[in-house]
Amino acid sequence: MSMTSHMSTLKKYEEHLMDAYNNFPYGRYVSLIVIRKTESETIFRTEGSGEGLSKEIVTAGASKDNAGPLRRVVISKRKQTAVERRVGRELLREHKLLKMVTVNKAEQPCALNTNAPCGECIDCMVYGYAVGGGGAQKSRVMTDDAYSIGPASQVTGRRTFNATFDNGTMRNPLTGAASTSINEDEYVLPETHFLDIETLKDVTAGELQYVIGNILRSSRYGAMSSRLGRVRNTLAAIIFSDTEIFSNLELTQHVYDSLKGSDKELAFPLSDYTIKEALKEATNTLIKRVVGRLPVIVRDAVLEQIIDETISLYRSESDLLALLQEIDQGYTKQSK
Ligand SMILES: [Zn+2]
Repeated sequence: MSMTSHMSTLKKYEEHLMDAYNNFPYGRYVSLIVIRKTESETIFRTEGSGEGLSKEIVTAGASKDNAGPLRRVVISKRKQTAVERRVGRELLREHKLLKMVTVNKAEQPCALNTNAPCGECIDCMVYGYAVGGGGAQKSRVMTDDAYSIGPASQVTGRRTFNATFDNGTMRNPLTGAASTSINEDEYVLPETHFLDIETLKDVTAGELQYVIGNILRSSRYGAMSSRLGRVRNTLAAIIFSDTEIFSNLELTQHVYDSLKGSDKELAFPLSDYTIKEALKEATNTLIKRVVGRLPVIVRDAVLEQIIDETISLYRSESDLLALLQEIDQGYTKQSK
């Protein structure tokens, strides 16, 4: 199968995408609606910060019945894109597509958070970079904090445990003394759902495919040191528009209304099917209020086709490499 046939479904939407990278903004928006579901106990805190889970009090729903406050667990926008960037950069590193930069007269490949981005690789060009005094590319992947659909009180647990020693036991292997170090961790329960919209601006079909691949291949959003936190991402819809659509919070509130119905409390855990149906209804309601050209919503069978094509593209090393090279060469052709 050739690379173009891998992306044949996405290419049908080319009028909403860019033919090639351009320095000027064109107002072509692609919103990826992603359901993030924990599949194990997960801690989303920033590593080494010593903080607990991040939570915010927001309005429960959008309807009159759910106008009260609700404390929700939050996954920061930084955490979400940082994980996906790393997954994409692994591929670029493997195929030597991270460009070399000279730092203190030594050559090194483009690296995240080192103050020396190359400014030319696919990652820098799609997710953005800034060099003090030098060039910059605004990120063309925008996202916001994602909120748990259900209340924090329902979707979190807390446990204390004694820290273990090198030998994995509670007894010091040298002295035989019992461990006295007690840690407490607050975590998100398995099968907790978060809703997130990633908004891509002025991307090509190839860049869109790259971002979709990164989302579907990312699964570790939890704190790295604890090794806790497996997350499954499901792409629920792709929306093409000429303006930004609704926010993560609005979407979460509408989905909450629909799932809770006239019950006193939201059920837990919620099935993926129920969430998808509620999401469809909420999207249809909210999209009506978007001021702009009629947005095009891709979901169900057509979306499945795009996901199948993504899977077969990533199965073929040569086709994937050809796509990455095509995106990469698109930047050098462009005069800066
Ligand atoms: Zn770079």
